[in-house]
Amino acid sequence: MTSLPTLTFDDIKAVGLTYIKPVDWRLVESAYKLAAEAHKDQVRKSGEPYIQHPLHVALILAQLGLDPATLAAAFLHDVVEDTPNTVAMIRRRFGWRIGTLVDGVTKLEVIEHRPGFFEQLLRSPQSHQQPHALNKTERRIETLRKLFLATSKDVRVVLIKLADRLHNMETLVSIEPKRQVEIAQETLEIYAPIAYRLGIGTIKGRLEDLAFPYVMPKEYRTVVRLIKREAIDREAQVKKVRRILMKLLATHGIKSEIHARVKHLYSLYRKLERYNHDISKIYDVVACRIIVNSVEECYQVLGLIHQRWKPYDDRVKDYIATPKSNGYQSLHTTVRAVSDRPIEIQIRTQAMHEQAEFGVAAHWRYSEQKGTLNYLRKRVTQASSRELNWVSALVRWQRQARSYQDFDQLMKIDFFGDRVFAYTPRGEVIDLPIGSTPVDFAYTIHSEIGNHLAGAKVNGKMTKLDQPLKTGDVVEILVQTKLSPKADWLTFVKTSQAKSHIRRSLRDKTAGIN
Ligand code: MN
Repeated sequence: MTSLPTLTFDDIKAVGLTYIKPVDWRLVESAYKLAAEAHKDQVRKSGEPYIQHPLHVALILAQLGLDPATLAAAFLHDVVEDTPNTVAMIRRRFGWRIGTLVDGVTKLEVIEHRPGFFEQLLRSPQSHQQPHALNKTERRIETLRKLFLATSKDVRVVLIKLADRLHNMETLVSIEPKRQVEIAQETLEIYAPIAYRLGIGTIKGRLEDLAFPYVMPKEYRTVVRLIKREAIDREAQVKKVRRILMKLLATHGIKSEIHARVKHLYSLYRKLERYNHDISKIYDVVACRIIVNSVEECYQVLGLIHQRWKPYDDRVKDYIATPKSNGYQSLHTTVRAVSDRPIEIQIRTQAMHEQAEFGVAAHWRYSEQKGTLNYLRKRVTQASSRELNWVSALVRWQRQARSYQDFDQLMKIDFFGDRVFAYTPRGEVIDLPIGSTPVDFAYTIHSEIGNHLAGAKVNGKMTKLDQPLKTGDVVEILVQTKLSPKADWLTFVKTSQAKSHIRRSLRDKTAGIN
């Protein structure tokens, strides 16, 4: 594993000042100063001064082009947990917004450090969940993702957390081996999927490739070997294809950037699993990526390529017309080129490229790049209502922002503000609509628990059954087998699940008596 460079504040400044105005940079600098002072006597497990950690986290976020508040909060993200400083102090000194970002990251860390929290969420059987299209793991990851977003309110908190995890993965060597595997596993199961859902391809790929050797050392070595051989084997073909494409596009007056991209290791591994480990069936181990200036040019280039080389019919994918759910857009085609071997070519605009690499972060880049914003506006208006997921909603909000202050207000999104996340005493998360009561909670766990509900304790205290729950409440349900549902529960329950079970039980009872 290559060791990371030792950073100074000037390294972050060099990146930050390429897009942040000096007047706004002062905020970042004073956050750095506070962090340097607060962590000055601390060292990391690796033996380096602690401040190296926030410096690296801030650099990752600066490379994503994020705003000064996010960078300031990145510097301060471990200050509350590890030093005598409080969120109130940070609020007083840096303002409400940065205090809230720091508070959010700290709260996530508390969840993270609850012993076995993630493990339980990922592995314990959750038979109480309503069946739907997702499989169990996906459902749990979905719940976690919502939990993250609900807990943080401002998605920038999640971005800081992802950067934090990325640097922790990069320095995982200095942790004891057993913890290494646990942390790497959690990275694959929680953080990489979150990065994926947020559309941050660069962070997702890096997290997975860093975790891969710890979780599956044998498979990792096999894939490294395979990819090396394939890359060497393909080098000549890719070079030739690239040269031909450059000439072809130039003669048609299309300005483009063309590069070869090698597939990330873990994502290749996942694909190999689906193709019986036959690498000859995987056409995008090495692919050519063409970046052009407009959507029209994307289709024009696709046409030109198909005139030159025969495409594999079933391998032409139009993710421009039908974007992936995380917002990814590109045209993909696989053609028989040069050595008569299939090669994948991906075509996209600069804005689509940024979306693919930076995802949500692309919408939050501090200097609004003209192309990006216009393109996103178009995409949002084109998207069907089903595709208007929260990422698009975010962009819509951003579009309405008239000034920097407005924009900042809008970032404090609350897409899951209509959900409540309560816990079982064992730490399982129960995801409920807002206003849900202990009765809804009981029925969500299991219909029989609801049907025999005798009482509920919230955070250790007996509570009325119609008391609405709050996110973070720990709810313990008491049952008595002789009891059955009361008709008046129907007046306050929120979930349809609870309503239908109560009605059925009342009906059965009447039928039984008659
Ligand atoms: Mn940290």
